[in-house]
Amino acid sequence: MTETTAGERNRAGEWRPQDPIKLAPINDWPPAPVKTVKWAFGFPGFLWPYNAFWLAVTLVTWIWLTPELVAMQTIEAWWVGVLLARNMALLLALFGGLHLYFYIMRAQGDEFRFTLKPFITGAKRFLFKNQVRDNMLRTLAVAVPIITAYEVLTYWMFANGFLGLFSLGDSPVVFWGWFAVMILAAPFIHSVHFYLGHRLLHVRWFYRHFHALHHRNVEVGPWSGLAMHPVEHIIYFSTIVVPWVLALHPVNALYQLHLAAFLPALSHSGYDRLKVGKRLQIDAGAHFHYLHHKYFECNYGGSLLPLDKMFGTFHDGSDAAHTSLRQRIRDRRKAMA
Ligand SMILES: [Zn+2]
Ligand SMILES: [Zn+2]
Repeated sequence: MTETTAGERNRAGEWRPQDPIKLAPINDWPPAPVKTVKWAFGFPGFLWPYNAFWLAVTLVTWIWLTPELVAMQTIEAWWVGVLLARNMALLLALFGGLHLYFYIMRAQGDEFRFTLKPFITGAKRFLFKNQVRDNMLRTLAVAVPIITAYEVLTYWMFANGFLGLFSLGDSPVVFWGWFAVMILAAPFIHSVHFYLGHRLLHVRWFYRHFHALHHRNVEVGPWSGLAMHPVEHIIYFSTIVVPWVLALHPVNALYQLHLAAFLPALSHSGYDRLKVGKRLQIDAGAHFHYLHHKYFECNYGGSLLPLDKMFGTFHDGSDAAHTSLRQRIRDRRKAMA
């Protein structure tokens, strides 16, 4: 084993962080108020930069890169085309940017990188026998149109008064208060929806027909994040249905959709942390989901909420967690035999 920053790499070239994965401190029992406040308001923390950054992207998108809502009352090719082109550009910039940063420019070398294995070429399970090209095509040619379709439907429904289903009165304070509540709730809605959809996708029939495609990526890179079967895209992005029912403003729906669209780039980066400059290290939960790709039967959700812990599928990356995962699989096989 060789020591690197905050972790160790074994002879096979696999790196793992020294510390086991911890859930967000809001899950601590007994409650840890100081830790929780630091986690929420500190830097880097839950609000800034993690979620504020995505909110800024959403606001820029809404203000400068989206046609007026009134213009979207009838579905017309020009504005659908605008949304499609800008979504293509956004995903290309983010997913492509991260790929470029980590794997082409090699901006942080192998620091915090889980494996030294290159992306796969020559294997038939990938289109063009090339993992990166396969993943890019599935993201840009399949995920982007599906994201756009959900967005088109959202604006069209808001523009025609089919959404914004209830009223909280005329007070702008209450209206924008509810808007803020929905913004703060969005990462939690995302976590719960992702967990449930993902558990469904691991039911044998769904797995075989749809989700196995995503798991062809054992070692992952940013482009693997949305490399999914179209049916999985439809399930995954259906998180937008929650703000369809609960939100009064289309930006809440756009933010929900953006979290789902953008978070997988970082959670599949193949690196535990993204280093920005010398000091800032962004830990976007990549280790949590990396273990899911490696071992399949653990970590279906994320570290924001205790869902995996509650259902006994949490793997914190430690040897003890690994032993218990193997035991769980053995017990299940015995029960099935
Ligand atoms: Zn899975
Ligand atoms: Zn994944």
